[in-house]
Amino acid sequence: MNKRKTYITLGIILFFFCISLLKFDSTSVVASYNENNPINLQNIPILNYHKVDILNHALSVSPQEFEEQMEYLYKNGYHTITPDQLMAYLKSCKELPDKPILITFDDGYLDNYTNAYPILKKYGFTATIFLVTNLINHDDRFMTWDQVREMQKNGIVFGSHTANHKSLTTLTKEQVMSELSESRDELTRQLGKPPKYFAYPTGTYNAEIEEMVRANKYKAAFTIEYGQVGADSDLYSLQRIPIFKGQKTFRSFFIRLNGAPILEELGLIKS
Ligand SMILES: [Zn+2]
Repeated sequence: MNKRKTYITLGIILFFFCISLLKFDSTSVVASYNENNPINLQNIPILNYHKVDILNHALSVSPQEFEEQMEYLYKNGYHTITPDQLMAYLKSCKELPDKPILITFDDGYLDNYTNAYPILKKYGFTATIFLVTNLINHDDRFMTWDQVREMQKNGIVFGSHTANHKSLTTLTKEQVMSELSESRDELTRQLGKPPKYFAYPTGTYNAEIEEMVRANKYKAAFTIEYGQVGADSDLYSLQRIPIFKGQKTFRSFFIRLNGAPILEELGLIKS
């Protein structure tokens, strides 16, 4: 009888031992799966500027305000990244520096070169500028190709913002295709390599336009919808944090930058 009890006890111990091994094994499988699971990706802020000048224009921040904002990012340990780094992170979880942030400008205003570029250089920051290609070299409010090439040599990335800055949802399919391909071809001719990234002029797009952007070999497209980019972002409708002139621009910059994660957590904006 005693022998039988011992066998039963040993059997029970062995049974629980095996269960504990199984449980341990299944958690380690989950853990290693999660390491490469996009669900674990952090959200990345993408700032969207237009003009950096002293004009009282809704799309402008002054050079002094821009400098304050860059200084804030620098002092708070942010590291600027390129869209290539962002894509590698979103697609294959490739490591990013601490507190990554992507700085973008739309349109290609001359003040991006004269005012923003020296400040970016001062803090060792990179940025991505989306150009309206028919305005470059043709309108003195915008940059020249020589200035664009100089910035490209120093680590600034250029993308397409179409050839003529028309709202794409107001155009025919053929017109959209020509805006996408004409700007891509001009950027390729002027900069020696095809642009990989696109920003929707006036922020307007739909699923059909997204598809045409993809068909024109752009790897991702940026909107003006407010939010951060993360695991469930659509690469052809990436959210940004627009920085416009406000009564107190730095306060509005601070709230927009730091408020986005909180608003996302509360489900008030799409991440
Ligand atoms: Zn624009």
